[in-house]
Amino acid sequence: MRKYLIAGNWKMNMKPSEAKVFAKQLTDSIKDVSSDVIVMIAPPFTALQAVGEAIKGSVIKLGAQNMNDNEKGAFTGEISADMLLDVGVEYVILGHSERRQIYKESNEFINKKVLFALKKGLKPVLCIGELLEERESGKTNSVLKTQLVEGLKNVAKDDMKNIVIAYEPVWAIGTGKVATPEVAEETHKFVRDTLAEIFDKTVAENTIIQYGGSVTDASVDGLMKQPDIDGALVGGASLKADSFTRIVKFVR
Ligand code: PEP
Repeated sequence: MRKYLIAGNWKMNMKPSEAKVFAKQLTDSIKDVSSDVIVMIAPPFTALQAVGEAIKGSVIKLGAQNMNDNEKGAFTGEISADMLLDVGVEYVILGHSERRQIYKESNEFINKKVLFALKKGLKPVLCIGELLEERESGKTNSVLKTQLVEGLKNVAKDDMKNIVIAYEPVWAIGTGKVATPEVAEETHKFVRDTLAEIFDKTVAENTIIQYGGSVTDASVDGLMKQPDIDGALVGGASLKADSFTRIVKFVR
């Protein structure tokens, strides 16, 4: 039976000192979360250590927002998998639309990071999603299929148990325009069917597929009621303790 994964992507917000206090507050407000919900927070790199210490012994898991695909060396400004593991990171968000759009990350490049993260024992959260013009011109499914096929290239079937897919329509991220539960479910079903094509039905049934894009405490319940939506990747609403706590404690 699949679990739900509710994850907070803090993006470039929260100084280490603020992050530590906020994370501590969350450990308290989230401590009685249902056992079928995994909670993860992904602060900026500079706050990982402080947040890791603040959430130690709690139900909250630590995630990073990116990672380099090389072991170590001359990669100025980059962060390695070992550095993340050393401060207690378990999950790493890869291929977020902001990295695809602003930093021009390609499917091929993201795939290298996915494979390297798996090799190092980190759990990739592979983000996929279509632009507004792609949805409007009927290209959603083909865009998502390419992102999945290329992003998961050479991933062993057995490694899929350590991968999470985050479906995040780009037009919904940070815009306040959340996809309706019906639109999101239809697309999640397509993503799951595509995983069955690439791997097999068992892999498809067992993979956590999160929805991301303007999820709030007001929209989470409707989304989580859908059979193929297994959690949420939350940006803006993960920066406030009361809204993130309510999202984590969604009602089905
Ligand atoms: C995100 O950054 O992954 C995201 C979904 O952001 P927001 O919830 O703010 O739309």
